[in-house]
Amino acid sequence: MGIVYKKYLTGEKVLTCNNCKTHFATCDSIISKNFHGQNGRAFLFSNVINVYTGDAEDRLMRTGQHTVQDIHCAECSTVVGWKYLVAYEQSERYKEGRFILERTLLHYTST
Ligand SMILES: [Zn+2]
Repeated sequence: MGIVYKKYLTGEKVLTCNNCKTHFATCDSIISKNFHGQNGRAFLFSNVINVYTGDAEDRLMRTGQHTVQDIHCAECSTVVGWKYLVAYEQSERYKEGRFILERTLLHYTST
């Protein structure tokens, strides 16, 4: 992997890494707050920045079988959520290609 150029967001509220304050997404871009992560509440996004993905693996979640990749903060490598690659249930297909960030691993910043 080459040099990672950090990008910065502007908006009412920016969600950042709780550990190193790298920008991930704006509050405006949250699709749903009704998700559950390993540590409680989690948010669904269409896109997040300054992250890299881990290996794809199958996981059985409460909404069925999914193929996912962990997503890591590009700065400090903390696992902050996951990306949905494949949802096997028809009703869950809308999540494919989208990202989950765990609420407890995020920090809110106003810009
Ligand atoms: Zn970080």
